[in-house]
Amino acid sequence: MRYLILSDIHGNWEGLEAVLRDAEGDYEQVLCCGDLVGYGADPNRVVDWVRERANLVVRGNHDKGCAGLDDLEWFNPVARAAANWTSQSLTPDNLAYLRNLPKGPAVMDSFQILHGSPLDEDDYLVSNFAITQVAPYLERQLSFFGHTHLQGGFLCHRNGVIRLRRPEGAESREVIELENDGLYLINPGSVGQPRDGDPRAGYLIYDSDARLVEFRRVPYDIRAAQAKIRAAGLSELLADRLEFGN
Ligand code: ZN
Repeated sequence: MRYLILSDIHGNWEGLEAVLRDAEGDYEQVLCCGDLVGYGADPNRVVDWVRERANLVVRGNHDKGCAGLDDLEWFNPVARAAANWTSQSLTPDNLAYLRNLPKGPAVMDSFQILHGSPLDEDDYLVSNFAITQVAPYLERQLSFFGHTHLQGGFLCHRNGVIRLRRPEGAESREVIELENDGLYLINPGSVGQPRDGDPRAGYLIYDSDARLVEFRRVPYDIRAAQAKIRAAGLSELLADRLEFGN
């Protein structure tokens, strides 16, 4: 089975559209590691598409916040204003969908998907130390997560933690052959608001028969996404950062 694995779309329709064009014909199922909305100006379009096409979705902290399940006190002022705007813009059906999304980890055959960490969807898995701490809580050898908006991931071995390579510079794809031992924590990157210094939308394709993970980056119409953010009256910072991918 080939899976299209997406995370942190954040209401960016242009980013999602470019990913779908780039991935066309390369997958059978769609999985999403959370944060469908928040920051971007197209929450309904994104949620409509995910509702129709995704086979498994776990909720992210922004989905929770926008659906009224979390206190927005924890959000910084820019994120809070975007969450309030998103809540008011979502259709009642889409709000109900977000409210009912399962909390991760969610198991899919031989692997699982989650948003932040297996313990808390608000935790950021960034350091090798964080990986060794959560490793005992993983229910599968392979986990896909999001939340950090950093494409790549970790292989947790007897000998320590190894970082996986992502495509950089002019490269747009990087294939990882999964080994049989060790624990993998893999982040597809963010479709809608990358923060790893590469403004291109990030995603991955996982081929479970061949045991291959392919990180991918694709350019998208950043100008159009920025124009919608500005027209919606959302913070200028949210528009600007798309250009730099940080
Ligand atoms: Zn996010």
